[in-house]
Amino acid sequence: MERTAKATSHETREHNERLVLATIYDRAPVSRADVARLTGLTRTTVSDVVEGLLASGLAQAIGRGPSTGGKAPILLEVPDAARLLVGVDLGDRVFTAATVNLRGEIVHRVEVPSEDADGDDALGLAMSLMDQVIATAEGPILGIGVGAPGLVDTTDGTVVEAVKRDWRDLPLGALVAERFKVPVYVANDSQAAALAEHVFAETRGANLIVIKVGQGIGAGIVLNGELFGGDRFGAGEIGHTVMDANGDVCRCGRRGCLETLASARAVLTSLAALRGHPVSMDQAIADFERGDPQVRAIVLESATHLGEAVASLIGALHVRRMVMAGTMAAFGEPWLKVISEAASSRSLAALSVDTTFELGRIDDIVVLGASALLMTRELGLNLRPLHPMPRPRTFVTEAAAEPTTKAGVPPRLAVAERGGLAG
Ligand SMILES: [Zn+2]
Repeated sequence: MERTAKATSHETREHNERLVLATIYDRAPVSRADVARLTGLTRTTVSDVVEGLLASGLAQAIGRGPSTGGKAPILLEVPDAARLLVGVDLGDRVFTAATVNLRGEIVHRVEVPSEDADGDDALGLAMSLMDQVIATAEGPILGIGVGAPGLVDTTDGTVVEAVKRDWRDLPLGALVAERFKVPVYVANDSQAAALAEHVFAETRGANLIVIKVGQGIGAGIVLNGELFGGDRFGAGEIGHTVMDANGDVCRCGRRGCLETLASARAVLTSLAALRGHPVSMDQAIADFERGDPQVRAIVLESATHLGEAVASLIGALHVRRMVMAGTMAAFGEPWLKVISEAASSRSLAALSVDTTFELGRIDDIVVLGASALLMTRELGLNLRPLHPMPRPRTFVTEAAAEPTTKAGVPPRLAVAERGGLAG
Protein backbone atom coordinates (compact mmCIF):
# COMPACT_ATOMS: atom_id res chain seq x y z
CA MET A 1 0.00 0.00 0.00
CA GLU A 2 2.71 2.43 1.04
CA ARG A 3 4.94 1.40 -1.86
CA THR A 4 2.15 2.04 -4.34
CA ALA A 5 1.53 5.48 -2.88
CA LYS A 6 5.24 6.27 -3.07
CA ALA A 7 5.48 5.12 -6.67
CA THR A 8 2.46 7.18 -7.60
CA SER A 9 3.81 10.33 -5.99
CA HIS A 10 7.17 9.80 -7.71
CA GLU A 11 5.40 9.36 -11.05
CA THR A 12 3.33 12.48 -10.47
CA ARG A 13 6.45 14.48 -9.70
CA GLU A 14 8.23 13.20 -12.81
CA HIS A 15 5.15 13.91 -14.90
CA ASN A 16 4.96 17.47 -13.55
CA GLU A 17 8.68 18.04 -14.14
CA ARG A 18 8.41 16.91 -17.73
CA LEU A 19 5.32 19.02 -18.31
CA VAL A 20 6.89 22.17 -16.87
CA LEU A 21 10.18 21.62 -18.71
CA ALA A 22 8.37 21.02 -22.02
CA THR A 23 6.29 24.15 -21.54
CA ILE A 24 9.35 26.31 -20.86
CA TYR A 25 11.23 24.70 -23.77
CA ASP A 26 8.36 25.23 -26.22
CA ARG A 27 6.98 28.57 -25.06
CA ALA A 28 10.03 30.48 -23.79
CA PRO A 29 10.26 33.17 -22.65
CA VAL A 30 7.54 32.37 -20.12
CA SER A 31 6.88 33.27 -16.50
CA ARG A 32 5.97 30.82 -13.74
CA ALA A 33 2.41 32.16 -13.90
CA ASP A 34 2.29 31.44 -17.66
CA VAL A 35 3.52 27.91 -17.05
CA ALA A 36 0.85 27.36 -14.39
CA ARG A 37 -1.84 28.63 -16.75
CA LEU A 38 -0.60 26.54 -19.71
CA THR A 39 -0.20 23.32 -17.74
CA GLY A 40 -3.11 23.58 -15.32
CA LEU A 41 -0.71 22.92 -12.42
CA THR A 42 -0.86 25.04 -9.27
CA ARG A 43 1.56 27.94 -8.91
CA THR A 44 3.12 26.28 -5.89
CA THR A 45 3.83 23.09 -7.84
CA VAL A 46 5.26 25.07 -10.76
CA SER A 47 7.51 27.16 -8.50
CA ASP A 48 8.70 24.02 -6.79
CA VAL A 49 9.56 22.27 -10.07
CA VAL A 50 11.17 25.42 -11.52
CA GLU A 51 13.51 25.68 -8.52
CA GLY A 52 14.77 22.19 -9.34
CA LEU A 53 15.19 23.02 -13.03
CA LEU A 54 17.10 26.23 -12.21
CA ALA A 55 19.38 24.29 -9.85
CA SER A 56 20.15 21.67 -12.50
CA GLY A 57 20.70 24.28 -15.21
CA LEU A 58 17.84 23.00 -17.37
CA ALA A 59 16.13 26.37 -17.00
CA GLN A 60 17.46 29.87 -16.59
CA ALA A 61 16.01 33.31 -15.85
CA ILE A 62 16.36 35.73 -18.75
CA GLY A 63 15.02 39.01 -17.36
CA ARG A 64 11.59 40.33 -16.54
CA GLY A 65 8.40 40.49 -18.58
CA PRO A 66 5.85 43.32 -18.65
CA SER A 67 4.14 43.95 -15.33
CA THR A 68 0.39 43.40 -15.15
CA GLY A 69 0.04 45.63 -12.11
CA GLY A 70 2.28 43.98 -9.55
CA LYS A 71 5.92 43.08 -9.69
CA ALA A 72 7.20 42.30 -13.22
CA PRO A 73 7.44 38.49 -13.61
CA ILE A 74 10.76 36.72 -14.15
CA LEU A 75 10.91 35.06 -17.56
CA LEU A 76 12.37 31.59 -18.05
CA GLU A 77 13.90 29.60 -20.89
CA VAL A 78 15.72 26.30 -21.45
CA PRO A 79 19.27 27.20 -22.57
CA ASP A 80 20.21 25.54 -25.87
CA ALA A 81 23.45 24.32 -24.32
CA ALA A 82 21.94 23.15 -21.01
CA ARG A 83 22.79 19.60 -22.01
CA LEU A 84 24.64 18.06 -24.93
CA LEU A 85 23.18 15.11 -26.79
CA VAL A 86 25.55 12.60 -28.33
CA GLY A 87 24.15 11.23 -31.59
CA VAL A 88 25.79 8.26 -33.29
CA ASP A 89 25.23 6.75 -36.73
CA LEU A 90 26.75 3.30 -37.20
CA GLY A 91 26.49 3.61 -40.96
CA ASP A 92 27.57 1.16 -43.65
CA ARG A 93 30.42 3.25 -45.02
CA VAL A 94 31.30 5.50 -42.08
CA PHE A 95 30.53 5.69 -38.38
CA THR A 96 29.64 9.23 -37.34
CA ALA A 97 29.29 10.71 -33.86
CA ALA A 98 28.37 14.26 -32.96
CA THR A 99 27.51 16.41 -30.00
CA VAL A 100 24.20 18.16 -30.61
CA ASN A 101 22.58 20.94 -28.58
CA LEU A 102 18.97 20.96 -27.37
CA ARG A 103 17.86 22.71 -30.58
CA GLY A 104 19.30 20.08 -32.88
CA GLU A 105 22.42 21.99 -33.89
CA ILE A 106 25.58 19.98 -34.36
CA VAL A 107 28.35 21.31 -32.11
CA HIS A 108 31.15 18.91 -32.96
CA ARG A 109 31.26 15.98 -35.37
CA VAL A 110 33.71 13.14 -35.96
CA GLU A 111 33.64 10.20 -38.36
CA VAL A 112 35.67 7.15 -39.22
CA PRO A 113 35.54 4.74 -42.21
CA SER A 114 33.67 1.61 -41.19
CA GLU A 115 33.24 -0.36 -44.40
CA ASP A 116 35.29 -3.41 -43.45
CA ALA A 117 34.82 -3.60 -39.67
CA ASP A 118 32.76 -6.36 -38.15
CA GLY A 119 32.26 -8.17 -34.85
CA ASP A 120 34.26 -6.84 -31.90
CA ASP A 121 36.38 -4.65 -34.20
CA ALA A 122 33.30 -2.75 -35.31
CA LEU A 123 32.17 -2.37 -31.70
CA GLY A 124 35.63 -1.12 -30.66
CA LEU A 125 35.63 1.36 -33.53
CA ALA A 126 32.25 2.72 -32.44
CA MET A 127 33.36 3.02 -28.80
CA SER A 128 36.57 4.90 -29.64
CA LEU A 129 34.61 7.28 -31.86
CA MET A 130 32.27 8.06 -28.94
CA ASP A 131 35.33 8.57 -26.69
CA GLN A 132 36.64 11.05 -29.20
CA VAL A 133 33.49 13.15 -29.50
CA ILE A 134 32.73 13.10 -25.77
CA ALA A 135 36.26 14.37 -25.06
CA THR A 136 35.39 17.54 -27.01
CA ALA A 137 32.21 18.24 -25.02
CA GLU A 138 32.18 21.53 -23.11
CA GLY A 139 29.17 20.94 -20.91
CA PRO A 140 27.10 18.19 -19.33
CA ILE A 141 26.22 15.20 -21.54
CA LEU A 142 22.58 14.12 -21.32
CA GLY A 143 23.25 10.72 -22.82
CA ILE A 144 23.90 8.89 -26.06
CA GLY A 145 21.49 8.04 -28.86
CA VAL A 146 22.63 5.43 -31.36
CA GLY A 147 21.24 4.58 -34.79
CA ALA A 148 22.36 1.01 -35.48
CA PRO A 149 21.93 -1.18 -38.53
CA GLY A 150 19.74 -4.26 -38.57
CA LEU A 151 17.04 -5.36 -36.16
CA VAL A 152 17.15 -3.45 -32.89
CA ASP A 153 15.14 -4.10 -29.75
CA THR A 154 14.57 -0.47 -28.72
CA THR A 155 13.33 -1.45 -25.27
CA ASP A 156 16.80 -2.49 -24.09
CA GLY A 157 19.09 -1.40 -26.94
CA THR A 158 20.00 -4.90 -28.09
CA VAL A 159 21.03 -5.34 -31.71
CA VAL A 160 19.14 -8.54 -32.44
CA GLU A 161 20.76 -9.03 -35.81
CA ALA A 162 22.99 -6.90 -38.00
CA VAL A 163 24.31 -9.10 -40.78
CA LYS A 164 26.92 -6.68 -42.13
CA ARG A 165 28.61 -6.28 -38.74
CA ASP A 166 28.14 -9.92 -37.81
CA TRP A 167 26.31 -8.83 -34.65
CA ARG A 168 23.76 -11.16 -33.06
CA ASP A 169 22.01 -10.36 -29.77
CA LEU A 170 24.65 -7.73 -29.06
CA PRO A 171 23.65 -5.73 -25.92
CA LEU A 172 24.93 -2.53 -27.52
CA GLY A 173 22.93 -0.13 -25.33
CA ALA A 174 24.08 -1.81 -22.12
CA LEU A 175 27.74 -1.91 -23.23
CA VAL A 176 27.77 1.78 -24.18
CA ALA A 177 25.96 2.75 -20.95
CA GLU A 178 28.45 0.75 -18.89
CA ARG A 179 31.40 2.45 -20.54
CA PHE A 180 30.18 6.05 -20.48
CA LYS A 181 27.90 5.95 -17.40
CA VAL A 182 25.12 7.89 -19.10
CA PRO A 183 21.65 6.89 -20.37
CA VAL A 184 21.79 5.25 -23.81
CA TYR A 185 19.02 4.68 -26.36
CA VAL A 186 19.44 2.61 -29.48
CA ALA A 187 17.14 2.53 -32.48
CA ASN A 188 17.36 1.08 -35.92
CA ASP A 189 18.90 3.56 -38.40
CA SER A 190 15.70 3.85 -40.45
CA GLN A 191 13.70 4.61 -37.32
CA ALA A 192 16.20 7.29 -36.33
CA ALA A 193 15.96 8.76 -39.83
CA ALA A 194 12.16 8.85 -39.56
CA LEU A 195 12.36 10.67 -36.26
CA ALA A 196 14.74 13.25 -37.77
CA GLU A 197 12.46 13.88 -40.74
CA HIS A 198 9.55 14.20 -38.31
CA VAL A 199 11.14 16.71 -35.92
CA PHE A 200 13.06 18.78 -38.47
CA ALA A 201 10.14 19.31 -40.84
CA GLU A 202 8.85 22.86 -41.03
CA THR A 203 5.31 21.59 -40.66
CA ARG A 204 5.09 18.61 -38.38
CA GLY A 205 2.43 16.16 -39.49
CA ALA A 206 1.15 13.25 -37.45
CA ASN A 207 2.35 10.47 -39.74
CA LEU A 208 5.23 9.78 -42.08
CA ILE A 209 7.30 6.95 -43.49
CA VAL A 210 10.98 7.28 -44.27
CA ILE A 211 12.46 4.61 -46.50
CA LYS A 212 16.21 4.53 -46.10
CA VAL A 213 17.90 3.04 -49.12
CA GLY A 214 21.61 2.44 -48.74
CA GLN A 215 23.51 -0.84 -48.63
CA GLY A 216 20.36 -2.17 -47.01
CA ILE A 217 16.75 -1.02 -47.12
CA GLY A 218 14.48 -0.28 -44.18
CA ALA A 219 11.48 1.87 -43.39
CA GLY A 220 11.01 4.01 -40.29
CA ILE A 221 7.40 4.69 -39.43
CA VAL A 222 6.03 7.59 -37.37
CA LEU A 223 2.36 7.24 -36.47
CA ASN A 224 0.49 9.88 -34.46
CA GLY A 225 3.77 11.64 -33.75
CA GLU A 226 5.47 8.57 -32.31
CA LEU A 227 7.91 6.02 -33.63
CA PHE A 228 6.02 2.84 -34.44
CA GLY A 229 7.93 -0.38 -33.77
CA GLY A 230 5.14 -2.89 -34.15
CA ASP A 231 4.40 -5.55 -31.54
CA ARG A 232 8.09 -5.73 -30.77
CA PHE A 233 10.57 -3.80 -32.89
CA GLY A 234 10.52 -5.02 -36.47
CA ALA A 235 8.00 -2.68 -38.12
CA GLY A 236 9.40 -1.36 -41.37
CA GLU A 237 11.83 -4.21 -42.02
CA ILE A 238 10.97 -4.37 -45.70
CA GLY A 239 14.47 -5.02 -47.06
CA HIS A 240 14.22 -8.78 -46.88
CA THR A 241 10.75 -9.17 -48.29
CA VAL A 242 11.14 -11.51 -51.26
CA MET A 243 10.13 -9.81 -54.50
CA ASP A 244 11.49 -12.43 -56.90
CA ALA A 245 11.73 -16.00 -55.63
CA ASN A 246 14.16 -16.87 -58.44
CA GLY A 247 16.31 -13.80 -57.96
CA ASP A 248 19.87 -13.37 -56.74
CA VAL A 249 20.97 -14.80 -53.41
CA CYS A 250 20.69 -12.19 -50.65
CA ARG A 251 23.07 -11.75 -47.70
CA CYS A 252 20.22 -13.09 -45.51
CA GLY A 253 20.35 -16.41 -47.37
CA ARG A 254 17.09 -16.11 -49.29
CA ARG A 255 16.70 -15.22 -52.94
CA GLY A 256 15.31 -12.09 -54.54
CA CYS A 257 14.83 -9.88 -51.46
CA LEU A 258 14.06 -6.21 -52.12
CA GLU A 259 17.66 -5.47 -51.13
CA THR A 260 18.97 -7.59 -54.01
CA LEU A 261 16.94 -5.47 -56.43
CA ALA A 262 16.94 -1.91 -55.15
CA SER A 263 19.75 -1.20 -52.66
CA ALA A 264 22.97 0.68 -53.41
CA ARG A 265 24.73 -2.67 -53.17
CA ALA A 266 22.43 -4.16 -55.84
CA VAL A 267 22.98 -1.25 -58.20
CA LEU A 268 26.77 -1.34 -57.79
CA THR A 269 26.83 -5.13 -58.19
CA SER A 270 24.90 -4.89 -61.48
CA LEU A 271 27.20 -2.13 -62.73
CA ALA A 272 30.33 -4.05 -61.80
CA ALA A 273 29.04 -7.14 -63.65
CA LEU A 274 28.34 -5.02 -66.70
CA ARG A 275 31.70 -3.25 -66.75
CA GLY A 276 33.87 -6.05 -65.47
CA HIS A 277 35.34 -3.98 -62.62
CA PRO A 278 34.10 -2.49 -59.32
CA VAL A 279 32.30 0.86 -59.54
CA SER A 280 32.11 3.30 -56.65
CA MET A 281 28.91 5.04 -55.61
CA ASP A 282 30.41 8.43 -56.46
CA GLN A 283 31.26 7.19 -59.95
CA ALA A 284 27.78 5.76 -60.43
CA ILE A 285 26.20 9.07 -59.40
CA ALA A 286 28.47 11.05 -61.73
CA ASP A 287 27.68 8.70 -64.66
CA PHE A 288 23.97 8.88 -63.86
CA GLU A 289 24.04 12.66 -63.90
CA ARG A 290 25.91 12.64 -67.22
CA GLY A 291 23.08 10.56 -68.64
CA ASP A 292 24.97 7.26 -69.11
CA PRO A 293 22.15 5.03 -70.49
CA GLN A 294 23.32 1.83 -68.76
CA VAL A 295 23.58 3.45 -65.35
CA ARG A 296 20.25 5.19 -65.80
CA ALA A 297 18.56 1.92 -66.79
CA ILE A 298 19.93 0.06 -63.76
CA VAL A 299 19.15 2.82 -61.25
CA LEU A 300 15.66 3.47 -62.57
CA GLU A 301 14.80 -0.23 -62.67
CA SER A 302 15.83 -0.43 -59.01
CA ALA A 303 13.47 2.49 -58.36
CA THR A 304 10.58 0.57 -59.91
CA HIS A 305 11.12 -2.25 -57.41
CA LEU A 306 11.15 0.26 -54.56
CA GLY A 307 7.87 1.66 -55.84
CA GLU A 308 6.33 -1.81 -55.63
CA ALA A 309 7.36 -2.07 -51.98
CA VAL A 310 6.11 1.44 -51.24
CA ALA A 311 2.74 0.54 -52.78
CA SER A 312 2.19 -2.13 -50.15
CA LEU A 313 3.07 0.35 -47.38
CA ILE A 314 0.53 2.82 -48.79
CA GLY A 315 -2.09 0.08 -48.85
CA ALA A 316 -1.29 -1.08 -45.32
CA LEU A 317 -1.02 2.29 -43.59
CA HIS A 318 -2.33 5.06 -45.90
CA VAL A 319 0.39 7.40 -44.68
CA ARG A 320 0.56 10.33 -47.09
CA ARG A 321 4.08 11.61 -46.50
CA MET A 322 6.76 9.33 -47.93
CA VAL A 323 10.39 10.37 -47.61
CA MET A 324 13.05 8.55 -49.61
CA ALA A 325 16.43 8.83 -47.89
CA GLY A 326 19.82 7.13 -47.67
CA THR A 327 22.72 7.10 -50.13
CA MET A 328 20.48 6.18 -53.08
CA ALA A 329 18.66 9.50 -52.62
CA ALA A 330 21.72 11.07 -54.25
CA PHE A 331 20.24 9.91 -57.59
CA GLY A 332 17.72 12.65 -56.94
CA GLU A 333 14.54 13.56 -58.65
CA PRO A 334 14.60 11.09 -61.59
CA TRP A 335 14.96 8.21 -59.10
CA LEU A 336 12.21 9.65 -56.89
CA LYS A 337 9.88 10.17 -59.85
CA VAL A 338 10.08 6.51 -60.90
CA ILE A 339 9.44 5.35 -57.33
CA SER A 340 6.44 7.63 -57.10
CA GLU A 341 4.99 6.48 -60.43
CA ALA A 342 5.56 2.81 -59.68
CA ALA A 343 3.98 3.15 -56.23
CA SER A 344 0.99 5.10 -57.52
CA SER A 345 0.28 2.72 -60.38
CA ARG A 346 0.35 -0.24 -57.99
CA SER A 347 -1.87 1.04 -55.21
CA LEU A 348 -5.53 2.00 -54.98
CA ALA A 349 -5.91 5.34 -56.77
CA ALA A 350 -8.02 6.80 -53.97
CA LEU A 351 -5.12 6.19 -51.56
CA SER A 352 -2.17 7.11 -53.76
CA VAL A 353 -3.67 10.27 -55.22
CA ASP A 354 -2.71 12.38 -52.22
CA THR A 355 0.54 10.61 -51.34
CA THR A 356 3.54 12.91 -51.47
CA PHE A 357 7.11 11.83 -52.14
CA GLU A 358 10.15 13.76 -50.95
CA LEU A 359 13.86 13.27 -50.99
CA GLY A 360 15.15 13.03 -47.42
CA ARG A 361 18.16 14.86 -46.14
CA ILE A 362 21.31 12.91 -46.77
CA ASP A 363 23.71 14.32 -44.20
CA ASP A 364 23.53 13.46 -40.52
CA ILE A 365 19.93 12.31 -40.64
CA VAL A 366 20.60 9.32 -38.35
CA VAL A 367 22.81 11.31 -35.94
CA LEU A 368 20.08 13.93 -35.52
CA GLY A 369 17.30 11.37 -35.22
CA ALA A 370 19.20 9.40 -32.58
CA SER A 371 19.73 12.66 -30.65
CA ALA A 372 16.01 13.45 -30.86
CA LEU A 373 15.19 9.97 -29.56
CA LEU A 374 17.50 10.45 -26.58
CA MET A 375 16.04 13.86 -25.80
CA THR A 376 12.45 12.65 -25.92
CA ARG A 377 13.05 9.57 -23.84
CA GLU A 378 15.25 11.22 -21.27
CA LEU A 379 13.67 14.66 -20.83
CA GLY A 380 10.22 14.20 -22.36
CA LEU A 381 11.11 17.02 -24.77
CA ASN A 382 10.10 16.74 -28.39
CA LEU A 383 13.01 18.45 -30.12
CA ARG A 384 12.11 21.78 -31.73
CA PRO A 385 14.91 22.79 -34.09
CA LEU A 386 16.01 26.39 -34.49
CA HIS A 387 16.15 25.93 -38.23
CA PRO A 388 13.48 23.57 -39.52
CA MET A 389 14.00 22.26 -43.04
CA PRO A 390 12.03 24.25 -45.57
CA ARG A 391 9.50 22.11 -47.35
CA PRO A 392 8.26 20.93 -49.71
CA ARG A 393 11.66 20.30 -51.21
CA THR A 394 10.65 17.74 -53.77
CA PHE A 395 7.10 16.70 -54.37
CA VAL A 396 6.30 14.54 -57.31
CA THR A 397 2.62 13.80 -57.05
CA GLU A 398 0.07 16.47 -56.28
CA ALA A 399 1.02 17.89 -52.92
CA ALA A 400 -1.80 17.65 -50.43
CA ALA A 401 -2.12 19.74 -47.33
CA GLU A 402 -0.33 18.21 -44.37
CA PRO A 403 -2.67 17.49 -41.47
CA THR A 404 -2.12 20.33 -39.05
CA THR A 405 -2.53 20.45 -35.32
CA LYS A 406 -5.76 21.92 -34.07
CA ALA A 407 -5.32 25.56 -33.15
CA GLY A 408 -4.54 26.11 -29.52
CA VAL A 409 -3.51 22.56 -28.75
CA PRO A 410 0.22 22.40 -28.18
CA PRO A 411 1.21 19.03 -29.66
CA ARG A 412 4.42 18.83 -27.67
CA LEU A 413 2.55 18.89 -24.39
CA ALA A 414 0.44 16.02 -25.63
CA VAL A 415 3.59 14.01 -26.29
CA ALA A 416 5.13 14.91 -22.94
CA GLU A 417 1.98 13.88 -21.14
CA ARG A 418 2.11 10.48 -22.73
CA GLY A 419 5.65 10.12 -21.49
CA GLY A 420 7.36 10.54 -24.85
CA LEU A 421 7.81 8.20 -27.75
CA ALA A 422 6.72 4.64 -27.38
CA GLY A 423 8.46 1.77 -29.02
ZN1 LIG B 1 17.43 -10.88 -47.82
